[in-house]
Amino acid sequence: MFDLSGQTALVTGASRGLGWAMAQALAGAGASVVLNGRDAATLEPNRDALRARGLRAEVLAFDVTDAEAVGRAVGGLGRLDILVSNAGSTVRKPLLEQSEADWRFVIDTNLTPSWRLAREAGRLMAAAGYGRIVLIGSVNGVAARPGITPYVASKAGLEGLARALAADLGGFGITVNAIAPGYFRTEGNRAFREADPAFEARIAGRSVLGRWGVPDELGAAVVYLASREAGFTTGTVLTVDGGLTSVI
Ligand code: NDP
Repeated sequence: MFDLSGQTALVTGASRGLGWAMAQALAGAGASVVLNGRDAATLEPNRDALRARGLRAEVLAFDVTDAEAVGRAVGGLGRLDILVSNAGSTVRKPLLEQSEADWRFVIDTNLTPSWRLAREAGRLMAAAGYGRIVLIGSVNGVAARPGITPYVASKAGLEGLARALAADLGGFGITVNAIAPGYFRTEGNRAFREADPAFEARIAGRSVLGRWGVPDELGAAVVYLASREAGFTTGTVLTVDGGLTSVI
C-alpha cells in the first residue's frame, strides 16, 4: 500500500521545515518530487540529498503569490499527480497594530495560492482523470491565539477551501484534503519561540502527548492522503497535533 512510484508530486515551500519533511516522505514512497520555494539555490541541496539516497527530485523555484509564475510553472509540468500546497508565512502583532498590508500579505501567501495552485494543478489532473491535492492548514484554523488574526483567518479559510475544491474536482477523480498540523519546531516559528521561551513548554503541556511534533511525523499523513488507496477520502481535514485540540 501507499506506493507512489511513477507519480509526480509538487510540494510548495519544500526548502525547509514541514514542506521539506513531507517532500522527503513522498520521495521515500516512490514519488518523483518537484521541490518548490522562491530560490533555486536553496532547493538544490535538498534535491541533491534526495538523489544521493536514490530518490527522484527536481527543483522548480517560483513565488506562489505570483499568479503568472504559478500558471507557467505548473502548466509546464505537463503531468502532476500530487500537489501539496504548504508554503506559508505569518505576521505576529496585536490586532490594533495590524495594517492592511499585514492582512494582505498573510492572506496572499497562505490562502490565495492554494486556490490558484489547485486550479492550475486541477487542469492537469482533470485531463488525466486522477489527482491528489493536500492543503496544509493549521490547528489555528480551529483554535485561535492573539496576535495572529490574518493567520487564523487564512488557515480557517483553507479548511473551507479544501471542501470547496473537493466538491469542484471530485467528478474528475481528484481528491482534496487538508492537514492541520499542531506545533512543530521550524524556522517559521523560531523567532517566536526565542521571543517567548515559556511558549514552548506551555504548548507541550497542552498536547496530550506532552511534546511538540517532529516534522517527519507529518510524513505518514501526507503519504496517506496522496495515495491511490485514499481515493474515498476527500473534503476532510486530518489533524496531526499530538492531541492538542482534542482536550480543554
Ligand atoms: P517555514 O517558514 O520553516 O518554511 C516555509 C516554507 O515556505 C519555506 O520553504 C519557504 O521557502 C516557503 N515559502 C514562503 N513563502 C513562499 C512564497 N511566497 N512562494 C514560495 N514558497 C514560499 O514554515 P513551516 O515549515 O513551519 O510551515 C510550513 C507550513 O505549515 C505553513 O503553511 C505553516 O503555516 C504550516 N504550519 C506550520 C506549523 C509549525 O508548527 N511549524 C504548524 C501548523 C501549520 P523560501 O523561503 O525558500 O522561499
